[in-house]
Amino acid sequence: MRFHKAELFFFLLIGLVGFGGAFAWAAFSAATNGVVVGGVDTAAHFAFMSAVLAGLSVVCGVTLIFPIMSSGLRERGKLQKMTESLSVRSQSLEHAAVTDGLTGMYNRRYFDDALNEYLDAFRRIRKPIGMVILDLDHFKKINDTHGHDVGDEVLRQVAECLRVFTRYHDVLARLGGEEFAILSPNINEQQLYQLADRIRQAISQLRIKTGNVTLKVTTSAGLAIWDGSESGEELYRRTDKQLYEAKRLGRNRVCAA
Ligand code: GH3
Ligand code: MG
Ligand code: MG
Repeated sequence: MRFHKAELFFFLLIGLVGFGGAFAWAAFSAATNGVVVGGVDTAAHFAFMSAVLAGLSVVCGVTLIFPIMSSGLRERGKLQKMTESLSVRSQSLEHAAVTDGLTGMYNRRYFDDALNEYLDAFRRIRKPIGMVILDLDHFKKINDTHGHDVGDEVLRQVAECLRVFTRYHDVLARLGGEEFAILSPNINEQQLYQLADRIRQAISQLRIKTGNVTLKVTTSAGLAIWDGSESGEELYRRTDKQLYEAKRLGRNRVCAA
């Protein structure tokens, strides 16, 4: 069996303390029995040895054990800090995996997972749930005319507008490019239509200032209420068809399934 340095020093310390104790005990016994050997007071001799061993124990503790102990504690502290920062990092990576870097909104991956979870839950409690998909109109033209950075700014402001109009339990996501989606629980078609149309109007009233130009943007939206049995993908396809219809009918409008 191999011992660590600190363990060996510890045994040494225990040995020193043990012998010191034995000499102290011998000194005590000799003093109480009054034994004198060769003119030297045995009690004083044992007491001296005990004091030497106590001194050695202190030296061993201070020079050998204490440095190992304190460096061990320092290492442990560093490790703990590293573990903490790693866990913060992994949390932020998890967050990054489900959010969109440009707008801070949830991304497509999160939306798809939330959709399936919501449908499972709402199937059990038999409550309605609706979906809206919004797509900015002629967004490519904004990029082509004013540049990609201006396009990004438009996306950020539209995202902010969507945040203002959605409720706490609505799932809001940027599906990609200039396309956004809302999953809205406990809502009927009329209410969902009103929500989508209020958002459409608010986006059309945005004035996005860049340099000395002020931009306007419009959006088209499609919506559908879950029929209670279709899959998430089927609901998505039905909603997307309505978005396509809104584009076909001239844009800047909402179409419902
Ligand atoms: P429509 O009215 O039919 O939707 O036309 P549109 O121009 O909005 O649609 P289209 O699909 O032709 O163009 C979408 C554009 O969005 C093309 C692409 O360059 C741009 N885009 C996608 N992602 C980003 C982004 O993150 N930032 C910026 N600035 N542009 C993006
Ligand atoms: Mg578009
Ligand atoms: Mg698009």
